[in-house]
Amino acid sequence: MSKVNVFKFGGASVKDADSIKNLFNIIFNRLQNPTIIVISAMGKSTNALETILQLKLDKKSFSSNYTIFRDYHINICMELFPKNHAIFNILDGQFHDVLEMLNETLLPENYDEYYDQIICYGEIISTLIVQSFLSLKEIKCAWQDAREIIATNSDYRFAKIDWEETTQNCVSKLTPILENNTVITQGFIGRETSGKTTTLGREGSDFTASILASCLQADAVTIWKDVEGVLNADPKRFEKTIKFDKLDYKEAAELTYYGASVIHPKTIKPLANLGIPLYVKSFLNPEGAGTKIHTVTTLNTVPCIVVKDNQILVSFRVTDFTFINESHIQQVFTVLEKLKLKVNLLQTSAISISIVIDEQIFKLEKLMKELESIFNIRYNEQLQLLTVKNHTEEMVTELLKNKEILLEQVTRTTFQIVYKLT
Ligand code: ASP
Ligand code: MG
Repeated sequence: MSKVNVFKFGGASVKDADSIKNLFNIIFNRLQNPTIIVISAMGKSTNALETILQLKLDKKSFSSNYTIFRDYHINICMELFPKNHAIFNILDGQFHDVLEMLNETLLPENYDEYYDQIICYGEIISTLIVQSFLSLKEIKCAWQDAREIIATNSDYRFAKIDWEETTQNCVSKLTPILENNTVITQGFIGRETSGKTTTLGREGSDFTASILASCLQADAVTIWKDVEGVLNADPKRFEKTIKFDKLDYKEAAELTYYGASVIHPKTIKPLANLGIPLYVKSFLNPEGAGTKIHTVTTLNTVPCIVVKDNQILVSFRVTDFTFINESHIQQVFTVLEKLKLKVNLLQTSAISISIVIDEQIFKLEKLMKELESIFNIRYNEQLQLLTVKNHTEEMVTELLKNKEILLEQVTRTTFQIVYKLT
């Protein structure tokens, strides 16, 4: 068998019937190699499911949100399929299952586990629809439940990959199917050893594409986006952006670390290890060159701006007259690790440790509870973290304008600020 190609289509590329027809056009002429297509939930349906879960947690009615979620998918199908097509019965079964699960009791202490059992339906439903549509268009393709392939531990919502088992699954289960079929599978979801669904972190479908490519030693991965490739800033936030024709793995990984949402942060490493190129291309302009991420030896000097939303700045102050030392830092980081909270920025002063973390349900409360006997803790929510790599002085002056800055950190190559949204 020749080398496998992996394509990944995110929510925006399957958000309505026309987008799914566009997906068909893109892949139709690009199926020379055995191909795996990894697909996310349609449009904003993961957010819609999160809202339903929040309502349930607040003991409020979610029935109208559920109806909107269901009808959104059914309406798309009415545009894509003849009335009597089997997809309608298939989806009925799925919607029945989601609703049944949503009617089960949700205990806040099991929230993460429960979340994964529900949230996966976005991906399951979208892949069922796309696979049926491609089959209708006479593309020979098989629907594969990603949970039979992606083996993980039971860190719900942030599951870690069991690489050995996942590789075995890829080789034993996917290779034979790929001989004759294009494989359609879900991004973002996996399964832990006792059989429960897990997820890999929001926007994790890119990572799934990279895992499959790595396990099968693929030829290349292509992520299809609504932008021309990797840009030096988010075009939704900044006017003048520059597209990279090529970008080194390390550079791309660094930008994702700061919060560039064009690719999930975990995507790069497995590909870099095997030298598998990652293409980022536009599904709106599929013939465009996009960006090729691989080994590039010339240093990038273009300034890159990355903005991360929903940040919390937490400050831990010592309560006696001692100074901050290693053991204070260790105490904070031990709890952060336990709660699986990643620190986006760290600053220490004589008497305090400040960290910037992503907003996550229940986590701040837990963090405070564990450390409030040792520190005086204060926090600010709803902040943005802005990072500029290769900053220039004018740029910094411009970016500082009209912002209420709570924290600033500058090195020779990187400028970062945390500020309140005004
Ligand atoms: N549907 C999931 C999310 O919205 C995974 C993904 O899109 O990659 O986070
Ligand atoms: Mg997405």
